[in-house]
Amino acid sequence: MNADTERQPSIRASGISCRRGGRTVFGGLTFAVGPGQFLEITGPNGSGKTTLLRALAGIEPIAEGTLDVTDDDLALLGHRDGLKGDLTVEENLRFWAEMHGRQNYRELMDRFEFLSIGQRPVRFLSAGQRKRAALASLMASERRIWLLDEPLTALDPGWAGKVIDAVTEHCATGGISVITTLEKTIPSAAAMVDLSPTSGNTRAIGGQN
Ligand code: ADP
Repeated sequence: MNADTERQPSIRASGISCRRGGRTVFGGLTFAVGPGQFLEITGPNGSGKTTLLRALAGIEPIAEGTLDVTDDDLALLGHRDGLKGDLTVEENLRFWAEMHGRQNYRELMDRFEFLSIGQRPVRFLSAGQRKRAALASLMASERRIWLLDEPLTALDPGWAGKVIDAVTEHCATGGISVITTLEKTIPSAAAMVDLSPTSGNTRAIGGQN
């Protein structure tokens, strides 16, 4: 394996399980995604989507199996979005961009249509507007692996479509996107992990090996 190959983002899970509160949330999951691939993790509330995403981010331990993630180039957008409520949208985006040495926040303000509400403190945003601000702040970091926990919740269909477009574009430039949804939504997903009880909590379909 040469140095260029080593830098490629990848996620490889083999037979992984996670336990929370003394019970196994899911087990026997095997999947792999590489550059340019989109993984959708789907399942109802409580099925373990957040737990799996946190495991991929390295903040939730796995109980069994092996998990290999190029985690030095990874951004997680969880239910806690990392935005400061007292700062404006622009100040939040600027903070995240500059923290990663980027100057892209104005472009993101434009893309996410924050020009009219960019000077409003984040705590005054609607749930959907805040979701957009959170995704914009994740994009400001320009990380190669995006882990997004239910990014479409609270968005109207128009904005949900734009978020899917942004994530698909990220993959088209060689990134990896992992997104959780309550039910299968993304036709372009290269791989899917289905955590719904009817799947036996062990299904993983597609992806590279
Ligand atoms: P989802 O994201 O699909 O809604 P979660 O991963 O949040 O599901 O939760 C999976 C299961 O783990 C649920 O049964 C939930 O109650 C349990 N769980 C989540 N967090 C904890 C915790 N900190 N301690 C104990 N159990 C937890």
